[in-house]
Amino acid sequence: MKTLLIGEYREGKLLDSTYELLGFAAQLGAETAMLLVGSENQLPLYGGTLYLADAAACGEYNPDLHKKLIIEVVQQENPDYIVFLHSSYGWDLAPRVAVALKAAQISEVIAIQDSGFEVGCCNGKMRRSVKPATNKTVLTVQAGAFPALQPGGLPTVHKITSAGIGSLEFIGYEPAEKKDVDLAKAEVIVSAGRGVGKKDNIPVIQALAKALGGELGASRPVVDAGWVGHSHQVGTTGQNVSPKLYVACGISGAIQHLAGMKKSDFILAINKDKDAPIGEVADVLVVADVMQFVPALTAKVAR
Ligand SMILES: Cc1cc2nc3c(=O)[nH]c(=O)nc-3n(C[C@H](O)[C@H](O)[C@H](O)COP(=O)(O)OP(=O)(O)OC[C@H]3O[C@@H](n4cnc5c(N)ncnc54)[C@H](O)[C@@H]3O)c2cc1C
Repeated sequence: MKTLLIGEYREGKLLDSTYELLGFAAQLGAETAMLLVGSENQLPLYGGTLYLADAAACGEYNPDLHKKLIIEVVQQENPDYIVFLHSSYGWDLAPRVAVALKAAQISEVIAIQDSGFEVGCCNGKMRRSVKPATNKTVLTVQAGAFPALQPGGLPTVHKITSAGIGSLEFIGYEPAEKKDVDLAKAEVIVSAGRGVGKKDNIPVIQALAKALGGELGASRPVVDAGWVGHSHQVGTTGQNVSPKLYVACGISGAIQHLAGMKKSDFILAINKDKDAPIGEVADVLVVADVMQFVPALTAKVAR
């Protein structure tokens, strides 16, 4: 079994998330080759085969041209799986490659099973197993679902260029609008989840954040319900955070939330369900009603 892993490179740097692709391939027990549109001075630390296209010539982001490069390498390597990260780069490129190869695509893989690949469904509440029915399959893997694996060594580099010039031109990146809170820099984050119950209870969570000198975070349903603004959302479609202390209040621990916060130094979770998945990453899980426990903790901290 063979995988072609599509690495990621942005603003002159190899992205660390590229190593999660190697973690995925290791769990699959597959042989690997990697393709990267990047540069020679940012090679992944992995002693395998690397097809390297020059980002300065091809554009760091050019789905048209990058698709051509991938198809050319697929023809040489004949992999069973072409694997992208489930990022904006992967979202855009993977379906283009799947259509060109007439291959199945499975998006947002979170685990590997004997019977296929596990993906989320029902807005992340449930999981289902999907088995591809084609010889080649395009996959995108969820951020944080597989451990980053840095095997070390340097790759055997095959330089590649695409004959065509493509119909799109990469111009550059435009920074996103400035957020009213930068959770990425916060040392303490206290996050509210659906378990907080209602918008009127948010100040209770905010008071603990303030008492600890931290910022307010939130899970996606809390943001979707309009209880707090999107700049507070932690997770794959929010911010990636790694504070010294992360307090998860009434948050179940869905994979999309964990992907954004599991690198925190210390995780305190408060949940009325002792079996909530957040317990798997929490250093301390307090089994309690959040609206009883949090005000008592705030009072202790503020004393
Ligand atoms: C493509 C996609 C992207 C996503 N991106 C994100 C993202 O960036 N960030 C994110 O957070 N989610 C994201 N999600 C949603 C994610 O799958 C979950 O649905 C979400 O994280 C659940 O939020 P929650 O834990 O607050 O709510 P729930 O899953 O409903 O959990 C609520 C928890 O509160 C507990 N609880 C209830 N009442 C109390 C109480 N009184 N006291 C204590 N505990 C209580 C319950 O036991 C439960 O564990 C995404 C989903 C998809 C499909």
